[in-house]
Amino acid sequence: MTSREERRLAIFPDNWSVLVLERKTASRDQPCHPCHELPREEQLRDLGIVSPASALDFPGNSPVRGKGFFVDRQHLAPLVDRPFRTKEGERFLLISRRNAPDTMYPEECTIANQAFHLAYWDRSSRFCGTCAAPMEMIPDEMAKQCSACGATSYPRISPAVIVAVVRQGKLLLAHSHRHQGKMHSVLAGFVEAGETLEQAAAREVQEECGIAIKNIRYLASQPWPFPTALMAAFTAEYAGGEISLQDDEIVSADWFAPGEIPPEIPDAYSIARRLIERFVSDYGTPQDLQHLLRR
Ligand SMILES: [Zn+2]
Repeated sequence: MTSREERRLAIFPDNWSVLVLERKTASRDQPCHPCHELPREEQLRDLGIVSPASALDFPGNSPVRGKGFFVDRQHLAPLVDRPFRTKEGERFLLISRRNAPDTMYPEECTIANQAFHLAYWDRSSRFCGTCAAPMEMIPDEMAKQCSACGATSYPRISPAVIVAVVRQGKLLLAHSHRHQGKMHSVLAGFVEAGETLEQAAAREVQEECGIAIKNIRYLASQPWPFPTALMAAFTAEYAGGEISLQDDEIVSADWFAPGEIPPEIPDAYSIARRLIERFVSDYGTPQDLQHLLRR
């Protein structure tokens, strides 16, 4: 048996690739769910997964200790989210990053998301954007420098806003083309160049649903590295207009009372869910909130 320090934390398939994260140091007191004791190097090799030479060794001051790299998802796709037994009979489970919050501790999800974000940056910043020469890691800093012109690169973070709009005790929820099934959520979108976060929130709601908003108030934020977003959440009040949909983005949208929240809403881990729960808590009855929290 390897010690806990040498075990892999998790493997996270995403849309187009897989990140393998190896945790080298961890507190023995840190909770570790049995299904997160993931395969050793030789077991990965059995699956055709070999750590590439370009694996990112996270620097000492990084929030992540360990090693991250991407491998072709075709090797792992058939194994995702189902228990797998190695040749030696050991069981492990590959968890998709979107489903990780169902089975992982929040701290483990945070580490995994940080690792994904950094490994994604590592892979997408191999060459200088100015002169196309190779980039090199700057020691003890999460940054790279161009070997020819000296330009620097830091992990890219893409700010996005998400906003809960209330009109006479009802919440604006929309079903968009990018949502699965009949999922309804509050409106969200990326911040554009030159905008404040509040301007971005007002523009998104206006563009996607034709609604003007006022009293835009910041609530909280959440890293959302799918692949590089940082979500800033706001509440706002209806200021005018009637729902008119942006056809290429939104399928349907409506105002929902606290007791009428649609059955399919974002996962508990997401800040979208927290905005919906907060609305029901502020505008609904204790029964409405209990009903939502039991889902
Ligand atoms: Zn350069």
